[in-house]
Amino acid sequence: MEITYISNEGFMFKTENKTVLIDSLHRGEYPPYDLIKPHVLEQMQKAVAPFDKIDLILFTHHHYDHFDPYTTILHLSNNSKTKLVAPPQIQNILQEHFSEIYDLVEGQINSCLPKLYTCETMNIDGIELKIYQVPHSEYLEMNEITGDKVNKHATVKHLMFLLEIDEKKILHVGDSIPNDDKKSIEPYKEMIDDQIDVAFLSNWFILNPKGQEIIEKYIKPEQIVLMHLESEEKTKISKDIPKNIQSKLTIFDNSMESITI
Ligand SMILES: [Zn+2]
Repeated sequence: MEITYISNEGFMFKTENKTVLIDSLHRGEYPPYDLIKPHVLEQMQKAVAPFDKIDLILFTHHHYDHFDPYTTILHLSNNSKTKLVAPPQIQNILQEHFSEIYDLVEGQINSCLPKLYTCETMNIDGIELKIYQVPHSEYLEMNEITGDKVNKHATVKHLMFLLEIDEKKILHVGDSIPNDDKKSIEPYKEMIDDQIDVAFLSNWFILNPKGQEIIEKYIKPEQIVLMHLESEEKTKISKDIPKNIQSKLTIFDNSMESITI
């Protein structure tokens, strides 16, 4: 399998038979994350090489650094074979923004939202998906009137994907991190015998003590790709990561770099 880094948490997984994009169709023009070059964005929008045979597009949630509605609707309308799996909030945004062409791509879109911390399975043209709903990491903001701290991300519906493509198992956790809710560990417990080849984990996940325990006890990935890194953070972050995790780590430097696993 070839893994190509797009930007932020966006990646392309390519095997002999299948190609999947996750959290990739965003504009990638917002520092501090790595920029997506304009010609690459155009290739994604037009669904031309190397994005001409995308079987499946996945989104963990609708934040702009993961999902751009314009790029997504263009790609779907330029390749009628591409399917999309995402939370209902993404379907709603596409429907609201592009009511005139939405009908043309509606059949390609699969909305999915299992109950919190539970899993739904799906098979999209031979690609096995386990889809969990997990909360987005918290972002606490002070309410200026009441003085209360409010979680700005409380209403974001967020998915985590465990995919099997041509016998390779990939976990992508998006912007989720383990929290104090006892149930939050349940999805990972189910992965104990899964033999995950690559886990895509954010810096928040990997630096969180509970996250480190989950990696060692349950996910036990062969390799880890570190994601959601600001360009400046990349050189500094390694020293804070435990040695046993460091040995499995890949950090991509630039958009469109690839590794083969
Ligand atoms: Zn987010």
